[in-house]
Amino acid sequence: MCGIVAYVGNKPCQQLLLEGLKRLEYRGYDSAGIAVLEKGKLRVCKSIGRVQNLEDKLEENGGLSGNLGMAHTRWATHGGVTDINAHPHIDDKVGIALIHNGIIENYASLKTYLEEKGHTFKSQTDTEVLAMLIGELYEGDLERAVQAALREVTGAYSIAVICEKEPNVLVVARKGSPLIVGIGNGEYFVASDASAIVSHTATAFTLDDYNVVKITPEGFHTSTIHNVPVTPRIEQLEIELQEIELGGYQHFMRKEIYEQPKALRNCLRGRIDVKEGRVILGGLAGLAKELTKLRRVVLTAQGTALHAAMIGEYLLEDLAKLPAVAEYASEFRYRNPIIEDGTAVIAVSQSGETADTLAALREAKERGALSLGVVNAVGSSIPRETDAGVYLRVGPEIGVASTKAFVGQVCVLTLITLFLGRRRFMSTEHCSELLKALDSLPEKIEQVLTQDEAIRKVTEKYCDRENWLFLGRGYNYPTALEGALKLKEISYIHAEGMPAAEMKHGPIALISEGMPAVFIANRGRQYDKVMSNIQEVRARGGHVIAVATEGDHEIKRYAEDVLYVPDIAEPLSPMLTVVPLQLMAYHAAVIRGHDVDKPRNLAKSVTVE
Ligand code: GLU
Repeated sequence: MCGIVAYVGNKPCQQLLLEGLKRLEYRGYDSAGIAVLEKGKLRVCKSIGRVQNLEDKLEENGGLSGNLGMAHTRWATHGGVTDINAHPHIDDKVGIALIHNGIIENYASLKTYLEEKGHTFKSQTDTEVLAMLIGELYEGDLERAVQAALREVTGAYSIAVICEKEPNVLVVARKGSPLIVGIGNGEYFVASDASAIVSHTATAFTLDDYNVVKITPEGFHTSTIHNVPVTPRIEQLEIELQEIELGGYQHFMRKEIYEQPKALRNCLRGRIDVKEGRVILGGLAGLAKELTKLRRVVLTAQGTALHAAMIGEYLLEDLAKLPAVAEYASEFRYRNPIIEDGTAVIAVSQSGETADTLAALREAKERGALSLGVVNAVGSSIPRETDAGVYLRVGPEIGVASTKAFVGQVCVLTLITLFLGRRRFMSTEHCSELLKALDSLPEKIEQVLTQDEAIRKVTEKYCDRENWLFLGRGYNYPTALEGALKLKEISYIHAEGMPAAEMKHGPIALISEGMPAVFIANRGRQYDKVMSNIQEVRARGGHVIAVATEGDHEIKRYAEDVLYVPDIAEPLSPMLTVVPLQLMAYHAAVIRGHDVDKPRNLAKSVTVE
């Protein structure tokens, strides 16, 4: 949600900032802007639309030159999508420019205060208020002014600030929204995530909440907003350039769907001992004792991660015999949840920065829960705030519609379940059997991917229909929700996912002649029940597309179209059955002419509540 990139050093920075911005565009893309200090004067350019529009505008105007600058791609929260509301925002009196990711919650009262002091506002954003506040508090030291302003602010932010009066200084700060500083040779790169800096340097540090960094070409100084010095932990970034490039694929989403076998292999590497029926999770090892005594697990997440969490709920109850519940983090947080002794909360989030999930986690921790994280982005906020956790290791996910992170989340939740199950009631044999099946999953996903063209053809038949149903039961009820969400997100087709049995309690009224109904109908405990639900749809003229187990020829009698997945133990089946649904959503979006990687109104990494 919003991308920030900034540079201070010895190179002209416009091109470098635009390149960084393009890598961050998945975080927000309704408008973009850039500010560069050119011979001590602030030069700003902004444009609604994609980064490309900004680049075109810069080219028309002859571009900007200067060695200190910053750029922003916006996902509007306060104020419409206009050039004026795009960042950077400026305080003219002092000559300060600021870019911001997040929400200044007390912006209204600050605005009144600043208006009384004679400031006039051009935009409707919360961000402009912060720019003016820094200007108001400026007494010849930008770092101090930023610290002072941030002491007055509530909400979430990562910001970058430059000032005409200090032409070598870049000040950045963070609370709640991510920010990383890359260290080069006499130059520094700041960005919302590592993808925007990794082509320049692999040495970097992540800011903690309430940290402020003053950066010049000569060095940097890190402190808190109360001006207490802080020593940052400098690390080597592990991400590789090819992981964040298209590498011949038309879209990141497609690339990431195809990366799923490899992603799962990485996720499983070194973590399973099939022969001994053992799961090795370094991240949980230190807490093994507490985990054995758990009495209840709350899994909390939003969006796709919530669907993974729901599968986690089934897994934990079914296999580890541990009471579990999956909840929207946004609801859990505000409903005065009861946390009893022996409760663990598992926060599931691809980015590790999801604002709702982070807030729910903090709430649960305050009430005494053991906190665990299932996260993809290494070093992000959730893993830094949890007692323990397990990384997905599926590599960076750039496509806004999550795919490989979903299977990674389900895979990790399966591993956690088996880790706990073996410490409770699960036999070595049972665990061994499931681990063997888990080990075979990457290859089975490869088999599903070979049917890509067949899946495209089926999608083509139906993708002019505006209403779809996705139905499943048991482990594959959350898969149905995920299939519907994928289709909504990128093809803008209205789709509903639900438990197949729920349909006749109301939604069946929606079924009309030719309406596509996707059934996840793989072999499992409720197969016969699903068959009955299929008949109910057929009887009302709906067109059934079934995701079924290879070798199930019978199902062709009930379904217009069948997409096959290899047989696998039922608890692991969502990681297979979801793949045809991801591909269907992808093809529907491509056929309907949408921008798959940047769906309208959405942004990846939702860092506002
Ligand atoms: N709240 C700010 C705005 O609406 C920043 C949004 C963002 O993070 O992109 O302009």
